[in-house]
Amino acid sequence: MRALRLAIVGAGPAGLYTADALRFQDRLDFSVDLFDRLPTPFGLLRYGVAPDHLKMKSLTVTLQKVLDDPRVRFFGNVTCGRDVTIAELRSHYDGVVYAYGAAADRQLEIPGEGLVGSLSATELVAWYSGHPESVEPPCRLDETGAAVIGMGNVAVDVARILTKPLAELRSTDMPQDVLSVLAGSALADVYMLGRRGPIDAKFTYKELRELGELDGVDVIVRKDELTLSASDAVAIANDPSLERRMKLLREWSLRRPTGAPRRLHLRFGVRPVEILGNGRVGGLVVERCLALADMKMGHVGAREELAVGAVFRAVGYRGMSVTGVPFDIGTGTIPTDGSARVLRNGAVSPGEYAAGWIRRGPTGVLGTNRADGQLVADSLLLDAKELLDLRTHSTDVMDLLESREVTIVTCDGWTAVDRAEIELGLEQGRARAKIVEHNKLLAVSRARSMGNAVGP
Ligand code: NAP
Repeated sequence: MRALRLAIVGAGPAGLYTADALRFQDRLDFSVDLFDRLPTPFGLLRYGVAPDHLKMKSLTVTLQKVLDDPRVRFFGNVTCGRDVTIAELRSHYDGVVYAYGAAADRQLEIPGEGLVGSLSATELVAWYSGHPESVEPPCRLDETGAAVIGMGNVAVDVARILTKPLAELRSTDMPQDVLSVLAGSALADVYMLGRRGPIDAKFTYKELRELGELDGVDVIVRKDELTLSASDAVAIANDPSLERRMKLLREWSLRRPTGAPRRLHLRFGVRPVEILGNGRVGGLVVERCLALADMKMGHVGAREELAVGAVFRAVGYRGMSVTGVPFDIGTGTIPTDGSARVLRNGAVSPGEYAAGWIRRGPTGVLGTNRADGQLVADSLLLDAKELLDLRTHSTDVMDLLESREVTIVTCDGWTAVDRAEIELGLEQGRARAKIVEHNKLLAVSRARSMGNAVGP
């Protein structure tokens, strides 16, 4: 049996874990091309995981091994569905795995959401992570108040990065321009707002605990917002991590503010109803509310106005459709059977698979993608024989892309960027400093991989 030729669309954790699982399928002979619309691999690991979460970032060392495998090629800066169609991928490969994540953000759908200074956490995270499509600061941090809507781990990341002392961010890979903007931040009060009670918050204990360990930040929790219902008590009894969470929140609610320069207010049972302002965010109206069993909000109560100059909504991500790939608009995911095989009109479409957030929705931590990748690899192993008859082109997609003058960043190109970022970091006294601009990434990847010493 000849080697299977596979394409993976998306070189983030889901795509890389899928390729990694293939590497360890002893009975499968394969080669894989990893496509990404960005010039760099690692997706959300590079542009989503908070820059100060160094341990999680170090997962790149493990996933780099996938790119170093001679059976794996990287096709960075290639947008599937535009530079190459999905039909072309399907005709050039025995199997195609969609692992392109969930890049869109959800809306609040409240008045004032379009004001300057009201933005998604995704935009802020992209900027402070040095994403090539987010070179300019998406908002000014010149007001003393900001609100972060949501009680998930993204909200926690954003609240932490906005309040953390700059000295502790200087050692991260954040671009120098981002550090300069954060250095000038006037923020003193950051409000993290959860529409439901503390038991229903989505953050994990480890991430929550970190908020209480920030130097120069008083965490403020209201005792009256920690009131539990009978069903909350049952939930706590069945889940030790919820008990730890409540213990921590109660402890914080008893703390007296120390007069620290920044305050992080964790508010529960309040929902945003209107963002105020004349062209630009000037305040946020919130309303007390109580979650009902069916996830609707009820018993709406008093309103209050928070003095904020920026509102960041961290209310979850959403998958986006790609031309030529089946898409369930209701769930924002690609429909699949229980084994990661893509469904077209309800039937398994031979040779198409999906992994990660675009398959299961935007939940779970990075490691969740490992199991996802394994699921695809297992299905590929079972389907291998029948896949060998599917491909209709024996030519290399590289030729097709070159004929269209697409600038491809290969593994060598990425290695060149990687080295240049490490050198740039060393000059600034840190392990790495990100190169942000798309043009620069392409220039460094080309010049350096051809042996020319062009500075970033
Ligand atoms: P998430 O965990 O789904 O949290 C979204 C939050 O937004 C929830 O608190 C939700 O409240 C709230 N929300 C949704 N719609 C709202 C509305 N209209 N008004 C007010 N609040 C609203 O999403 P996420 O924080 O974006 O995280 C996505 C995934 O990435 C999660 O699995 C997360 O654990 C993971 N992640 C992990 C890390 C880490 O491990 N450190 C870091 C970042 C992200 P309801 O519950 O009431 O809907």
